[in-house]
Amino acid sequence: MVQQGQIDHLLQETGQIEPPDFLVRQAFLQDYEGEYRDSMESPEGFWEGVASELEWTRRWDSVFQWDYPTFRWFLGAKCNITQNALDRHLTNGNRNKAAFIWLGEDGTERVFTYGRLAQLVNRFANGLRSLGVGKGDRVVIYMPLTPEGAIAMLACARIGAVHSVVYAGFSSGSLRDRILDAQAKVVITADVGYRRGNEVDLLGITERAVEDLDVVQKVVVWRRKGAAKVAASLGGREVDFDALMAESSVECDAEEMDSEDPLYILYTSGTTGRPKGVQHVHGGYMVGTYYHFKNFWDVKDNDVFWCTSDIGWVVGHSYIVYAPLVAGATTIFREGAPDFPHPGAFYEIIEKYGVNVIFTAPTALRMLMRYGEEYPKQYDLRSLRFLTCAGEPLNPEALRWSYEHICGNGEWGHIVDNWWQTETGGPCLGTTATMPVKPGRVGRPMPGAEMDIVDREGQPITEPDKGGLLVIKRPFPHFFRTVFGDPERYARDWNTIPGVYFTGDVALRDADGYYMVVGRADDVLNVAGHRIGSAEVESALVSHPSVAEAAVIGKPDELRGESIKGFVTLRVGNDPSEEMVNALKLHVRNELGPIAVPAEIDFTPTLPKTRSGKIMRRLLKAQELGLDPGDITTLEE
Ligand code: AMP
Repeated sequence: MVQQGQIDHLLQETGQIEPPDFLVRQAFLQDYEGEYRDSMESPEGFWEGVASELEWTRRWDSVFQWDYPTFRWFLGAKCNITQNALDRHLTNGNRNKAAFIWLGEDGTERVFTYGRLAQLVNRFANGLRSLGVGKGDRVVIYMPLTPEGAIAMLACARIGAVHSVVYAGFSSGSLRDRILDAQAKVVITADVGYRRGNEVDLLGITERAVEDLDVVQKVVVWRRKGAAKVAASLGGREVDFDALMAESSVECDAEEMDSEDPLYILYTSGTTGRPKGVQHVHGGYMVGTYYHFKNFWDVKDNDVFWCTSDIGWVVGHSYIVYAPLVAGATTIFREGAPDFPHPGAFYEIIEKYGVNVIFTAPTALRMLMRYGEEYPKQYDLRSLRFLTCAGEPLNPEALRWSYEHICGNGEWGHIVDNWWQTETGGPCLGTTATMPVKPGRVGRPMPGAEMDIVDREGQPITEPDKGGLLVIKRPFPHFFRTVFGDPERYARDWNTIPGVYFTGDVALRDADGYYMVVGRADDVLNVAGHRIGSAEVESALVSHPSVAEAAVIGKPDELRGESIKGFVTLRVGNDPSEEMVNALKLHVRNELGPIAVPAEIDFTPTLPKTRSGKIMRRLLKAQELGLDPGDITTLEE
């Protein structure tokens, strides 16, 4: 929930930064205005042109059909995203080009060419087939950020299975809920993950998650520590990842998919306690994410691209795995924290690998900023041309610091923001390589994205810098198709405000058409770029036997953007104490995972409620921030 005070503060920022000449000169997207106009005047022709750059086993009969709120792109077309991500590169000169450069926290480096990656994906795809996985089956992937995780995703896509990656920081309860919702037949996991030198027992978490789930027939375990013994609780359900690879063939024909067949489900937080299974498809998703990889990220053939996200998030799906491969790029990804084992680790990678384009999150930049400029100074960062950010508002301070100290004040690099969400698959707002940067503002609508700011009735707000609700007026190819198993929830996203898709965000637009995205209008929090539903944290809290009622709010946090504060009413017979705070934090960690743990918990005898009994989180927030509770831009009733 956004406060007016936050908006006023942001509007004070003025000066803009011109894009450096070298960046403008070589940008793929030279004529943003013209391209945007084309995409609006003739969306079908525009996207058909992009789709024609890729390979299809059957071409579409028609481009777009809209039966509000459902829609389809490239009707009748047949394809498989892995044919464009892998096979195409075996004959176009990219076979021996590095597709992935994977780095471990301990300095381990593994390079996978397109040729090698295709072999491994095929092997694993055959392995999955041998376990009885086929087209349309759901497979949950609970893997650390490793090549094996990406291979598992691609292997599912290869055989038409629908993957659902669960971020390896989620708890066994969250994993269980997602497996159940997707009715996954197979779960793929690893024995351990690593973060800041610590081992995370992923297998133990998986064992607890699948314990009483009959739906899960097999659990494929990648034992990276090497000790190949079967987990007792899994018994006959465990399959060894490496053995499955070894015994499967390197030849595997891609399953022919309809362009609208599902590619993956990715769960994200909404306003209800239940996570939302956002579903993307093979055809349109491939076309749209590929377009933006070239035209927004501006990655050239010989560039090294580094995306610091994780395969557990949509950014990792679109911009670690799918789009860079479809475009034939070389992508770095790294397990672990950007400041581990030392505060210069991030810069060391840029220097060592000659990284040209980075996709990261403002939280990471704020963390680097905290360590100070003596670290970037120690490294040669001159390869870095374009530093791009998304996931949460990029505050002007972090932007300016990064511009100065990471991008050499525009001498060799440039920094921009872009906005999107799990549902949109790719960016909808952003500052392209040729546009001036306005600190505090994300940028302008991306080609193909018809964006607007409206009031609750759907009436456009045309007055500059007046806050309203950020909406999308028409679906583009990489827009999500439905909420898995809950089409009504999908329809609600298009019906909350008549005639448009409501993103959940509050935004404003200036006279030049630049948008500022201020935050959520609903009860979804954004902690370090990760979306967390207040309702999910509240239900975790009330599932503790000592808790009667709970409410959580987001508080501005210098490093993480927002931090979670919980207000808890205890059941009779329980007293507030430091131990109780710790017990509740631990409980949320066990229920949901470390990212959802409240930074603070206050005990209160009652919680403010509406007459109908709904907890008024906005009042709690206003009180907490010392603001006038009436002065809030919110969708809440
Ligand atoms: P997710 O679906 O997890 O990617 O989260 C999407 C949400 O993150 C959006 O609805 C926004 O609230 C927020 N978000 C993403 N990118 C930005 C950005 N560049 N500026 C402000 N908020 C952002």
